[in-house]
Amino acid sequence: MVMYNPTRITSYPSDPIDKGFRYHFLGGGEEVGNVGCIIEDYTKSKLLFDYGLAPTKPPKYPAAAPKISDSIITHAHIDHLGMVPWLNSSHYTKLHATAFTSSISKLMWNDCYKVSKIEGYPLAWDKRDAAESESAWNIHEYNKINELDDWTWCLRKAGHIPGAAMIDIQTPEKKILISGDFDTRNSRLVEGAKPQKADILFMEGTYGGKNHPNRKDEENRFLREVERVVERGGTALIPSFAMGRSQDILMILQDSDLDLEIHYDGMGKTITKTMLNHKNELLNPSALEFAFGRSRKVSSKSDRKKALEADVIVSTSGMLEGGPAVWYLNRLRMDKRNSVFLTGYQAEGTGGRMLLEKGRLPIFGNITPIDLEVKRFDFSTHAGHDELVNFAKECKAEDVILYHTDHKTSRPPLTKSLLELGINVHNPMNRETYVIE
Ligand SMILES: [Zn+2]
Ligand SMILES: [Zn+2]
Repeated sequence: MVMYNPTRITSYPSDPIDKGFRYHFLGGGEEVGNVGCIIEDYTKSKLLFDYGLAPTKPPKYPAAAPKISDSIITHAHIDHLGMVPWLNSSHYTKLHATAFTSSISKLMWNDCYKVSKIEGYPLAWDKRDAAESESAWNIHEYNKINELDDWTWCLRKAGHIPGAAMIDIQTPEKKILISGDFDTRNSRLVEGAKPQKADILFMEGTYGGKNHPNRKDEENRFLREVERVVERGGTALIPSFAMGRSQDILMILQDSDLDLEIHYDGMGKTITKTMLNHKNELLNPSALEFAFGRSRKVSSKSDRKKALEADVIVSTSGMLEGGPAVWYLNRLRMDKRNSVFLTGYQAEGTGGRMLLEKGRLPIFGNITPIDLEVKRFDFSTHAGHDELVNFAKECKAEDVILYHTDHKTSRPPLTKSLLELGINVHNPMNRETYVIE
């Protein structure tokens, strides 16, 4: 088991630099998720962006962060903020984010804590650290300039999910843009990111080498499949991530020509209510309000039983790792008129991936064969290969640092495309130090 040892000496060098710009990934350099990166220049201005974990089994943690005064958190996914309570309790680091990210952080930490207890993996922080971190948030509006030592910086909209931000930094010598997780395409929920002029661009590369299908075509394919299930008298079970995906799915279904009875279960309900309190984050708040209002919210055991008769059930967990979705699947698996429609990335080792590849998955500890139709749809809100390349081009970046990417599969094709544009491409590995002069 990989244990996080907070007493371990940080991999970050303690000596300052006298010229140029230095960066060092504690995690998330050569992998998707688990992000934490320190940037510093010759003026001794420095910050940590993101401090998450990878919710794999066992979870993966970034290297220990050194004592640092300021950290900017790009968005509220656990792979970007999962280790923030440790950071704050160990170093009293000031936390910076958008209002939505800060207001949803407690829910994300509590869920992470709950899952670690169920799975039996220790966390490096406890509930008190999470509660205390809540008061460490400094809230920032998009495009409003802030100061940090010799730098000025602001947040820009990143697309991806509500509250997601890119970090735009002006140092005395360089303009730096950190993409966070981003998408330049609009989703139902949020507006896409716009390129910003930058000398150095830190860009996520989750989908390097892969392009997404046209979003409208994929929505239509999805709706026709839902229609087919309902017409034959079945229920479509749609496991969806609580943050972003489940809201997208509700809006797609409610905005269609289908007249459906939709039941909505899991943590997404609370997240949706928080999103509706932050309407400035949403591309079309009234569409979300309408879709959420029309869905039947499942809040009790008897509601859950009633939902088994629904046309559609939208529920967490998105990767069929526990949550109500697994309970539903266990009940629905007896009737072949029912279907399972997966709507997100299914990570290695998850129930969803096993179902896709082997037609079975663990249900309450027992590997159970599932004799139902299973389909997958691509509703990703990460930029695909072409969007990534265009974004780097439009930012006019001289240097692009590719992170949050699989260094074996996704990073090589992205590197190749960017090199063809004459861009200096950097492929950082975790716990290594790099300087751009
Ligand atoms: Zn991420
Ligand atoms: Zn994300």
